[in-house]
Amino acid sequence: MDETIQRTLRSLPSVSSLLESPEVARAGATIRAEIVADLARKRQESARARILRGDTSAVETIVTDLLADLEGLQQPTTAPVINGTGIIVHTNLGRAPVSEATATAMQRVASSNVALEVDPVTGRRGGRGREVAALIRALTGCEDALIVNNNAAAITLTLHALASDRRVVVSRGEAVEIGGGFRIPDVLRQSGCVLAEVGTTNRTYLRDYASAIDENTAALMKIHASNFAILGFSHQPSTSEVADLAREHGIYAIEDAGSGCLVSTEPYGLGPEPLLQDSIESGVHVVTASGDKLLGGPQAGLILGDRETIDTIRSHPLARAVRVDKTVQAGIAETLRHYVTGTHEEEIPVWWSISRSPSWLASRVESWMQALDNHPALESIASESAVGGGSLPGKTLPSHALAVRDPARDADSVATSLRTGRPSVFARIVDDAVVIDARTVLRHQDDDLIEALRALLS
Ligand SMILES: *Cc1c(COP(=O)(O)O)cnc(C)c1O
Repeated sequence: MDETIQRTLRSLPSVSSLLESPEVARAGATIRAEIVADLARKRQESARARILRGDTSAVETIVTDLLADLEGLQQPTTAPVINGTGIIVHTNLGRAPVSEATATAMQRVASSNVALEVDPVTGRRGGRGREVAALIRALTGCEDALIVNNNAAAITLTLHALASDRRVVVSRGEAVEIGGGFRIPDVLRQSGCVLAEVGTTNRTYLRDYASAIDENTAALMKIHASNFAILGFSHQPSTSEVADLAREHGIYAIEDAGSGCLVSTEPYGLGPEPLLQDSIESGVHVVTASGDKLLGGPQAGLILGDRETIDTIRSHPLARAVRVDKTVQAGIAETLRHYVTGTHEEEIPVWWSISRSPSWLASRVESWMQALDNHPALESIASESAVGGGSLPGKTLPSHALAVRDPARDADSVATSLRTGRPSVFARIVDDAVVIDARTVLRHQDDDLIEALRALLS
């Protein structure tokens, strides 16, 4: 064996000396001893293997690696972070933060029993989800509704229940990938449906749908092209035209509406986003949407439609596999109540962010700078935010941001410090500056942000 390797192996700390080292003992103080010992053994074995392969640096990192293992078991990666990216519904940052009332409602039911499937008046078994269904009915005019794990589950369940082993007609311009490999054609196939694509990428006419309908066709499906836009020479028939055609042929009209929007985005200077109530109005049998995009609630999928269709979907065996727990039921209900009472703009973080004016955001940035004694590394700049989360592609909102420039370090290094600090701040890099958009920093996070920046600048 190579002499350097032998020497390095001899200098590799034993498992017991690792466990005796004060820093390991400190980092593992609240962890069960056998778990700490097991981690130390695994680190020692892997360091030995690396050294035998000639990687002698393993001896230098064994202690820090073990400390990171111990830290990793204790530090939740789901700790709150500050979203300074300017992207309001940020998928990588957990999409929509819920309102305070929603968080409280979810917490309250999480640690208690609730009358989820029993009617308190009669004491008899009663359907879950009645509260949510009543709220969705009041807001959209649908006859019935069901909530499931997410919109992907909503689409999968709907297709299984209504169109398994049969053809579903989809426009080529809407046979899209939503993200993370979730492709509509694959989802259709996985749900046991036969995809009948019609039209072309940019133009599909109602007659294309009509000529694809045969005796084995179960449904016509519209999918909201939420994360891209086809501009120029393009055409797609409206949802109501497609719904009418389906009804003429006695087959289902299904719409995947995407973001679950209940209030118009246009007054805020954003483009139109389909509203759930308009989808219902258009006459489709069933509409699906996400609960944690523009709806602004916890992760969920909404299935809305007429009584008979929703009943068919609800009684499919897969419904149980994708159903939500009591915390999500309570969270979606509480979020919907904000729309019922008209308090969504103030209470639901997504709508609070969308509705802040650029001048209000500019004064917010001013107040941050003042709290940080107008440090020379800071500058107030105009910026642009976006809704994100696969909603309103290409549409931005004028915003205001805090730019951080450190003459001693590049922007990447500043951004890394902010991300790994506590609290952690996610920002954008623009023109060699780290840019924190005031629109997406939540209402209760000013003090946390100032603390993070103070730590950075000190
Ligand atoms: C986001 C999106 C989905 C997936 O929704 P999840 O809630 O993430 O499962 C499906 N369809 C459209 C059009 C979407 O925008």
